[in-house]
Amino acid sequence: MKSKKNNILRDPVCMRRMNKNKAYVKIKYEDEFYYLCCPKCQSEFAKDTKKYVERYKEINV
Ligand SMILES: [Zn+2]
Repeated sequence: MKSKKNNILRDPVCMRRMNKNKAYVKIKYEDEFYYLCCPKCQSEFAKDTKKYVERYKEINV
């Protein structure tokens, strides 16, 4: 089954909504994928992955 909704997600660093096909990079962390919009967000995410993952999970309930 295909759903358009599933292609829209949030960048865990800047919290911007985007289509995952347009994400700059996809990172796997603890069996989940996270999509970052730009190199800047990627380096922020790498620096403090746990913090961003926790915040992301709180917001995307
Ligand atoms: Zn971003």
